[in-house]
Amino acid sequence: MTADRAGKDRTLEKISVAQARRGDAIGRRVVLEGWVRTRRDSKAGFSFLELNDGSSMANLQVIAGASLANYESEIKHITAGGSVRIEGTVRPSPGKGQATEVHAERVVIYGAADPETYPLQKKRHSFEFLRTIAHLRPRTNTFGAIARVRNCVCRSIHQFFQENGFLYIHAPIITASDCEGAGEMFQVTTLKLDNLPQAGGAVDFTQDFFDRPSFLTVSGQLEAETFACALGKVYTFGPTFRAENSNTSRHLAEFWMVEPEMAFYELADNMDLAEAFLKRILSDVLQQCPEDMAFFNERIDNTTLATLQGIVESRFVRLPYTEAIQVLERSGEPFEFPVSWGVDLQAEHERFLTEKHFKKPLILYDYPRAIKPFYMRLNDDEKTVRAMDVLVPKVGEIIGGSQREERLDVLEMRMAEQNLKAGDYWWYLDLRRYGTVPHAGFGLGLERAVQFITGMGNIRDVIPFPRTPGAAEF
Ligand code: ATP
Ligand code: MN
Repeated sequence: MTADRAGKDRTLEKISVAQARRGDAIGRRVVLEGWVRTRRDSKAGFSFLELNDGSSMANLQVIAGASLANYESEIKHITAGGSVRIEGTVRPSPGKGQATEVHAERVVIYGAADPETYPLQKKRHSFEFLRTIAHLRPRTNTFGAIARVRNCVCRSIHQFFQENGFLYIHAPIITASDCEGAGEMFQVTTLKLDNLPQAGGAVDFTQDFFDRPSFLTVSGQLEAETFACALGKVYTFGPTFRAENSNTSRHLAEFWMVEPEMAFYELADNMDLAEAFLKRILSDVLQQCPEDMAFFNERIDNTTLATLQGIVESRFVRLPYTEAIQVLERSGEPFEFPVSWGVDLQAEHERFLTEKHFKKPLILYDYPRAIKPFYMRLNDDEKTVRAMDVLVPKVGEIIGGSQREERLDVLEMRMAEQNLKAGDYWWYLDLRRYGTVPHAGFGLGLERAVQFITGMGNIRDVIPFPRTPGAAEF
């Protein structure tokens, strides 16, 4: 045996819990490192350690016998949360629900977790409580599964676009333009807030770091358009920020957005892409995270698997806004917010359409011009714009997009209508001045997607460290 001074045999092969749980690992001498979930002592003079290292939902059973040198002094005192290194051999397991177990030949304790104070000693906690220990919640089954599914979704997003000839573009995080025109932005400044420079009765932003007011971006779309109008098909994927003071289960102040933008795409192409994209993400998760998805289906929402499977196999309904309003008006549902042509749809309306009426994902399009941003292409009816929202059960809007206005004069008119200064957007207007093209794009909120897939009720539980009004501690 070749042990170093710390008592570790460095010649052994290191494998993960997921690998050790597979039948083909039987017979191998290996090393595993991770955290103990539980310890049970048998009367026959050995202990069972349930080991988890994040590689899978399921734990690995480790059998540590009394003949181990530190059995009485250390192993018998390990409690939930303790970190260990196991050297041993993978054997077939007689136990239920597992093909293998590991017979330990050496157990090295890295760190104990005091059971008197370790908050995850107890088995079940509410998600509200776990939010107050965001630094420890990745150690629970649910948050481990969310981290793996979120990772799978991100991989799938990149693979989908890379395989389809899109270039990954990095949009800036600090910007001077407000893409949505919504004014819900976080300001970025190096001015001293208790001593602001004044000029003509207002704050003098020419003395600020960027010589003008600047903000955290709400979307990478305008920047993505500049690259699409040069290189064809691009996408951005990064953090976006919205200071909307809406304490809902679907809104974060900081969230990740994927935004493809395609030259020579019209609205119908945009819809087809959004549908193929969403289906690809869902089918990848179903294939690549079966164990985690089975957990969500059993513990969180028992309709999740069937819903995702159904979506992968169904064709999304495409419905003009005007017809959706008619469906809602005729529904006889007691909505909190009344419906009539021209109103922005509320979550309750979106959910009625996708959950109750059509019972599948829905792409609503051609929205009234007054409720949509200036950059969406005006239709010939002059009342509606080429907007599209993809709605799914439970979450409502998961994707928002549009065909962009490529006609300079119409775009200038729309900006004036929304009280935006053309001078602030001179570079955006240049795209229409020089070699303008029809183009389109959309944005998918990563957390809305993960929320939808896992069935988690609150969006704060599908991002590692949620930022919401009054909450940015971790
Ligand atoms: P909503 O009406 O639900 O607030 P929105 O119309 O403001 O959404 P868009 O500006 O179209 O949304 O943004 C594109 C996508 O980004 C949305 O479809 C959604 O998936 C996601 N998204 C928007 N706002 C948030 C938020 N505050 N937190 C998390 N995801 C968001
Ligand atoms: Mn919003």
